Amino acid sequence: MYMEKLLENTQVVVLMGGLGTRLGLKNVPKAMADVNGIPFFDYQLRILKRWGFQKFLFLVGYQASMIEDYYGDGSRFQVQIVYSYDGKEQMGTGGALKNAYGMLEEEFILIYGDSFMDIDYRELVYRYYAVENPEIKGIMAILHNSNNFDKSNVIYEDGVLVLYDKSVDNQRMEYIDYGVSLLSKSVLDDVSLNFDIAEVLTKLSITGKLLAQVTTKRFYEIGKPSSLEEFRVYAKGRFDTVQRAVFFDRDGVINELYFNDDTEQLDSPFRKEEFVYKKGIIETLRKIQDSNYYVFIVTNQPAAAKGKVALEALYDLNTWIIQDLAKKGIDVEFVALCPHHPTGSKKTRNHFLIQDCKCRKPKAALLTDLYSVYSLDLENSFMVGDSYTDIIAGKKAGVRTILLGDMKCDMCQKLLENYPDFIVDDISGIVKIITGGK
Ligand SMILES: [Mg+2]
Repeated sequence: MYMEKLLENTQVVVLMGGLGTRLGLKNVPKAMADVNGIPFFDYQLRILKRWGFQKFLFLVGYQASMIEDYYGDGSRFQVQIVYSYDGKEQMGTGGALKNAYGMLEEEFILIYGDSFMDIDYRELVYRYYAVENPEIKGIMAILHNSNNFDKSNVIYEDGVLVLYDKSVDNQRMEYIDYGVSLLSKSVLDDVSLNFDIAEVLTKLSITGKLLAQVTTKRFYEIGKPSSLEEFRVYAKGRFDTVQRAVFFDRDGVINELYFNDDTEQLDSPFRKEEFVYKKGIIETLRKIQDSNYYVFIVTNQPAAAKGKVALEALYDLNTWIIQDLAKKGIDVEFVALCPHHPTGSKKTRNHFLIQDCKCRKPKAALLTDLYSVYSLDLENSFMVGDSYTDIIAGKKAGVRTILLGDMKCDMCQKLLENYPDFIVDDISGIVKIITGGK
């Protein structure tokens, strides 16, 4: 696989077989249930397209023609879609997959067509390829749940997925499987035609062959009329209602830089022990959130691309930040992280991280990629950063820009060319600008 094009080349397999009978939709597949005028799965497709996925395999069941008539070969959605037909026998999730064996790529992402799952899909793919361990056969997304949404079924401790099992109760199960996994096709080699994919994942977890990605946003599945209605309300707010946003740079804005003893330089923190919030930032985030802005964090994190730290550590720290801010009452809507670097270093291990990407600030894609999955009022949205690269990215992305900090001389020239809309010397100044002094 051409590693720079990992996401474009990764096949997404969608289980579309679910019938909408329980939703009162006679002969309509669940994925086609109407949500504010378009089929349910359209929303998930928007999320997947935002990450660059191009190749889709739909596993379709009894009402296949309805799905195929609508989605066709995918060209209307600028993707490629092919179909595998379950036949009339119910074969279970695994059976549908085994049946499509000849159409599967060596690795593929597996999702459900009747769930809305908004995760960092690049993280899923990158975590899998970063370990470079042939024993590892898959990765699944999990959510800290504590029996909130459904019965917890995953033991995840000290960064390790210890067990996934839907069929047992265990006090140590605090997580739930999220409905997204990336699997090696080889896991299907020695299974029979009638099985549940959960059994395969359980077996992989017991033998230590399954990684996990901890996700932080809830998922929506549309198993019953009330949950379909719940998603309709969510989708209306998220996709059809224009909202304002503040995009925050991370290092130097949310948190202090960390003095790295090895390099004798100020650097990004890589572990939560090294992470210290900037004075006043919590209060600032709270006020901005209370004034009805989305809070996004957009951050360049090239340390793994340079071989300074493991990629998982970068992602783990951001997950921890989201969870920690949530405990403080702050909902970070999304952390958009660029893990790439154009040149890397001699110590680089994960060479797919070396690329001339679109997301590394001063480029704008960390912000603009979000525009296809939110409805944003850009004129009244802001980018807050402590570097000229943040200001340039914000300007390219069409939002107003706030520079936090003093005019360091090395910045002056570049800032003259890309002058920020506002300059503040401490964090409390941000609130005044954004909320109009409230
Ligand atoms: Mg910064």
